[in-house]
Amino acid sequence: MPRMSKGLPIKQKIPGVNKIVLVSSAKGGVGKSTVSINVALSLQKLGKKVGILDVDLFGPSIPKLLNLSGEPRISENGKLLPLSNYGLESMSMGYLIKPENPVVWRGLMVMKALQQLLFEVQWSNLDYLVVDMPPGTGDTQLTISQQLKVNGAIIVTTPQDIALIDAVKGIAMFNKVDIPLLGLVQNMSHYICPNCHHESHIFGSKGAEREAKNHDLEILGSIPLNEEICTQSDAGKPVVVSSPDSPISDPYVDIARKV
Ligand code: ADP
Repeated sequence: MPRMSKGLPIKQKIPGVNKIVLVSSAKGGVGKSTVSINVALSLQKLGKKVGILDVDLFGPSIPKLLNLSGEPRISENGKLLPLSNYGLESMSMGYLIKPENPVVWRGLMVMKALQQLLFEVQWSNLDYLVVDMPPGTGDTQLTISQQLKVNGAIIVTTPQDIALIDAVKGIAMFNKVDIPLLGLVQNMSHYICPNCHHESHIFGSKGAEREAKNHDLEILGSIPLNEEICTQSDAGKPVVVSSPDSPISDPYVDIARKV
């Protein structure tokens, strides 16, 4: 458990990790895990040693996105050893429970599992640990934000008003716990017809730009709604590894350059 100072936990580094970047969304299904994995793989493409920590305890996606399964081995000093694919180290609640078993836990058990994922994993001297956060601004998010020495947070949103209202809550939470916001990622920002190349803004066009401006934040990137992003994720081979030279990977690499 973390040490306390004046009733508040002292923010700690994760052993074996240099920089921690949180990827967050205040709402589910906006593409947070897809952004997390592709940005992590992009950082690696840029020559960094990278790991990904999936703390979406009730809906872990990283095992599927990396086509990994099975229980982690335990090191001699009792730490969890990450599972790796495409050169990326990973740890997830998904490795600790059977996929068909939903996590039905009380708060205390959730917090115990979270502490293990945060501080009991043997990462191997990473430049970056990308943390795929659960959606929302609840207990898990607050615990992580209060306990970890984080270098910055990215908020993923769609251009829809409802997702943006939630994104604003996420901005407020990170400001409250003194975590620097790196910026917003606008996912599913537009659709380019593969036949006629017409660009349509299905979920609206100016929402994220407006919120970014209102909160003095940068838009780190805009990612189109694209069938390949979805099918390759489902196949466990995210676009940054399956189509590294395609323009579809470019926005993720551009975001990675800014973190
Ligand atoms: P979250 O982590 O926010 O719940 P996911 O990353 O799991 O969201 O994405 C939800 C679904 O949307 C997945 O099926 C994913 O493959 C798909 N998806 C994410 N981003 C895109 C995109 N830019 N284009 C098409 N499908 C996407």
